[in-house]
Amino acid sequence: MILEATASVEKEINPWLSAAARFDEATRRLGLDEGLGKVLRMPAMELTVHIPVQLDDGRIEVFTGYRVQHSIARGPAKGGIRFAPDVTLDEVRALAAWMTWKCAVVNIPFGGAKGGVICDPNLLSMGELERITRRYTSEILDFIGPERDVPAPDMNTNEQTMAWIMDTYSMHKRHTETAVVTGKPVDLGGSKGRTEATGRGCMIVTLQALRRLGLDASQTRVVVQGFGNVGGMAAKLMRRAGFKIIAVIEYDGAVYNAQGIDVQGLMQHRRDTGSITGFPEAEDIDKDEAIFLDCDVLLPAAKENVITSGNAHRIRAKIICEGANGPTTSEADKILADRKIFVMPDILANAGGVTVSYFEWVQDRQGYFWNEELVNSRLEEIMVNSFKDVVGYADKHGVNNRMAAYMLAIDRVAFAIKLRGLYA
Ligand code: NAD
Repeated sequence: MILEATASVEKEINPWLSAAARFDEATRRLGLDEGLGKVLRMPAMELTVHIPVQLDDGRIEVFTGYRVQHSIARGPAKGGIRFAPDVTLDEVRALAAWMTWKCAVVNIPFGGAKGGVICDPNLLSMGELERITRRYTSEILDFIGPERDVPAPDMNTNEQTMAWIMDTYSMHKRHTETAVVTGKPVDLGGSKGRTEATGRGCMIVTLQALRRLGLDASQTRVVVQGFGNVGGMAAKLMRRAGFKIIAVIEYDGAVYNAQGIDVQGLMQHRRDTGSITGFPEAEDIDKDEAIFLDCDVLLPAAKENVITSGNAHRIRAKIICEGANGPTTSEADKILADRKIFVMPDILANAGGVTVSYFEWVQDRQGYFWNEELVNSRLEEIMVNSFKDVVGYADKHGVNNRMAAYMLAIDRVAFAIKLRGLYA
């Protein structure tokens, strides 16, 4: 069955409605106080800015940007900023809420936020991107800060973007303030291990899932969708840990080798040719069919709405590790649960990134930096404990892992609100 553009499909793939559907089910199961439910369902603050920027050819263009803070109950809001032509307020809202739940699942002292600017980075020069970033930062300046809201990179933004934000913020504050953003270059207050952190976190929870299901890494076949920061790093580290990466899927093609792909070789091939296709040590396969390959672990690490009610019945993996945010719709959750596929939801599986962002924020505020070994060992401790918390909660309450992660997170945030008496 192929998803057609109907009203119900539009509803299914709207990330805000998807996040709200899971929230509603979790609060119902928790028996959460109705008033607290209302507080947590809506973002605390939504800011829309229209940013005038001079383009290289002298024209003035106005770009629209958002910053949404979903919750600050457990600490400063935390969440990335994305640059993309299809950014919407609903998407930013959903991503902000997911950040609140994600930080609560891994039990770090942050709330949730997200930002975005509607623009197409492929059509903009470095100078134009820098001017957009600096102007956007100036517009949201009163709402961010180490104690208020700490942005990070997301789709199409990177450590250079974070360096510009940090510099703009510091210029206005009249002193250098590294802790205002995370995901910075290591030479500018960034943390060692941040680049690999999300992929490493995916690998850590996958190893935990294998142990639970009685599987061995050396016998484990993995299909990875998205060969970027998350998927590429996860594939590299998993291969190093003995997994067989049998397929890699990108937007322009997919490659397959039943014996396992040489991930570093594929990275080099992509750097040399601009594509993963045509890799001599693997065969090119249909990219639209590759997520349905027979495998042990499917790692969607590209984008939202990949697994839907239209295709969930075709997934043949035993384990899904959600590297991307929102790769599965709430309608597909039910199908995967009925099929007893072990899903590690995004708010657990990809939380390694925000966890090391937390370490970066701590190191910036201390002015004292940790070595990579310490970063990685503390990350492992948090990911393993969070996996145990979520799976233990699922076992205890007879729910699937996603519902367990939501219930655990909502319960923790609601508890913080009650303790603070924020809304008394
Ligand atoms: P990225 O841009 O580095 O990588 C994404 C990759 O996916 C790119 O190589 C891109 O070409 C590929 N891609 C895009 N569309 C595709 C498609 N239709 N099919 C197959 N491949 C496709 O981004 P990233 O940082 O790796 O983020 C990926 C996902 O993970 C996003 O959902 C992001 O929000 C989420 N995430 C990222 C982090 C992080 O630390 N980077 C943390 C948590 C969650």
